[in-house]
This record gives sequence, C-alpha cells and structure tokens, in this order.
Amino acid sequence: MDAEATRSRSTLREVLASGGRLRSYSFEFFPPKTADGEQALWDAVRRIEAVAPTFVSVTYGAGGSSRDRTVAATERIASETTLRPVAHLTAVDHSVAQLRHIIGQYAAVGISDILALRGDPPGDPQGEWRRHPEGFSHARELVELIKDSGSFTVGVAAFPERHPRSADWDDDVRHFVAKCRAGADYAITQMFFHVEDYLRLRDRVAAAGCTVPIIPAIMPATHARQIRRFAELSNAAFPQDLADRLTRAADRPQVAHRIGVDYATDMARRLLDEGAPGLHYITLNRSTATLEIHQNLGLGLGAGRQATAA
Ligand code: FAD
Repeated sequence: MDAEATRSRSTLREVLASGGRLRSYSFEFFPPKTADGEQALWDAVRRIEAVAPTFVSVTYGAGGSSRDRTVAATERIASETTLRPVAHLTAVDHSVAQLRHIIGQYAAVGISDILALRGDPPGDPQGEWRRHPEGFSHARELVELIKDSGSFTVGVAAFPERHPRSADWDDDVRHFVAKCRAGADYAITQMFFHVEDYLRLRDRVAAAGCTVPIIPAIMPATHARQIRRFAELSNAAFPQDLADRLTRAADRPQVAHRIGVDYATDMARRLLDEGAPGLHYITLNRSTATLEIHQNLGLGLGAGRQATAA
C-alpha cells in the first residue's frame, strides 16, 4: 500500500511522525446558528466522512452561545461519526481557569487534538486586543497550557501574507517559531490565493530553524459576492484575474462555481507538488466545492475506499 493510499487511515500523529511520507487532508466547519444551518453542517459532515480525511476541525466563536455550539458540534463529531475532530480554541475573553475547564471537557470525551489560537477582539477584529485580566496575551501561552494539560496534539495558525499585527516579517516569524517551540506540532495557514506566499513563508520559517509542518488552507471562491467577504475575513490579497472572471460570471452560478473550483484545484496541485504536508479545506459548511477539488486531485471517494479495503 503506498503512502497516498494509507493516508486516509492515518491519524494526525502518524502523519506528523511520518517525516513527510504521509500527508494530512482535513476539512474545516463552523458552528451553525440555525436549525437549517445545523442540517447543512451535518449533511456536509456525512459527505466528507465518506472520503475518510485525516481530521475535521470546528472553529471557535467570538463568545457566548456560539462557543457552546463549537464544543457541542465537536463532541458530536467525536461520538457519532468515524471522523477525528480538531477543536479550535481561542484565548479571547477567557481566564486561564476557563480555558483549563474547556480543555478538560474535550479530554473527557476523547478529543486529543486542539488548534490553539489567540483570537481577535470580539465585535471589531481590527480593534485593540485586550487580554482577559486572568488570561493570555498570545497563542504561545495557550499552547503551553494545553501541552501541560495532557497528551494533546496541538496546532497553531500561520499567515502566508504575515499576521496584520506583526510589525514586519522578522517579528512575525520570530513569534511563530516561539509558539512552535512552546510545543506546537503543526500549523494551518490563513486562507491565501497565491502559492508563492505560502512558499515564501515556509522558506522563512525553515531559515529560522523551525521544521514544524505548515498545512496550507484551501478556500474555493465560487461566487463574486465572496470577494469582499474574504477580504473582511482575512487580509488575503484576492487575485484580480480571478475577481474579474467571477464578476463576469456573476449571473451564471455554475460557471462561477467551475472557475473557483478550477482555480483552487490548480493551487492545491501546485502546493502538493511543492511538498506541502497536506491540505486544509475551508468548507463554509458546504461540501460540494471542496470535495470536487479533493476528487480533481485524485484523492476523493475512490482513494478513501481503496485505503479502507487495503
Ligand atoms: P498569536 O500567535 O498570538 O499572534 C498574534 C499577533 O501577536 C501576531 O502579530 C504575532 O506576531 C504577535 N505576537 C505573538 N507573540 C508575541 C509576543 N510575545 N510579543 C509581541 N507580539 C507577539 N479565530 C477565531 O476566533 N476562532 C477560530 O476558530 C479561528 N480559527 C483560525 C484557524 C486558522 C487556521 C487561522 C489561520 C486563524 C484562525 N482564527 C480563528 C483567527 C486568529 O485567531 C486570528 O488571526 C488572530 O489574530 C491571531 O491568532 P494567532 O493564534 O496567530 O495569535
């Protein structure tokens, strides 16, 4: 059985221990607010389950009930599906005691993978960051807490176009390497649309002596209206050519869908050819586009079945 065939049965730990022989394929969801949203999420989860990804992850909300929904969705994935969930967790508005409690809750239901994030100020993501008086200022401290709390595999965030709050690239890479040295096992990137940005980040991190695998995020843009939304969600520079083509296809949804899926497939293929340790698909709780990309790469249902049967 070759490396790609065994991939879909491997745990994240095994992928990380394989020294690049195995790759990680994962899908990201967010906690829905409505009953319809809940239905869409679970339809997507079930379709994605069929391709046996390495893990799926659930984002952590800015506060209150959305956080409870994150914990509930993550626990439900762990208990009702064959998928391995990675729980996102942020330091926003949490004391260390509260963070310890959530980490304990995950451990109690057998979840051993957490993505440790600082988070953004609630309400205005560009606003001033205020740490909880008994909490943390940076993701590095959360990595340390999780690692001290048990046998967790911990991921962190990476930014191919640099974190907007970093003064310069040296600052950005120094702090990224510090959270890896604090115990992070891998990183997942912010969405981006130019392969070169990922490659430059990887080279900068490697030049700083850090070998933590950085998994690129793939976000297919399949509607013209997503162009502005993506700019709000991230600092990612949206390619003008892709924006023009999506805008011209604004009243032809199937054409726009194909343009976005083809662009993302091409990016994903180039990233894998360049040695990326896997792909992390951002689904927005819809499975169609990301599963098409996965299948275009020859990693779809067929690959999953082959691995299961082998
Ligand atoms: P940090 O690593 O703490 O970095 C934040 C800034 O502080 C950077 O500029 C860094 O250079 C700087 N810095 C770090 N350490 C120091 C130090 N010691 N001194 C001075 N400066 C320092 N947000 C959510 O709310 N929920 C989610 O589920 C979520 N999931 C995400 C998943 C991924 C893959 C990514 C890439 C981002 C996600 N985010 C999420 C967004 C993330 O929380 C924000 O981008 C946040 O602004 C940065 O988080 P971080 O963990 O990188 O922070």
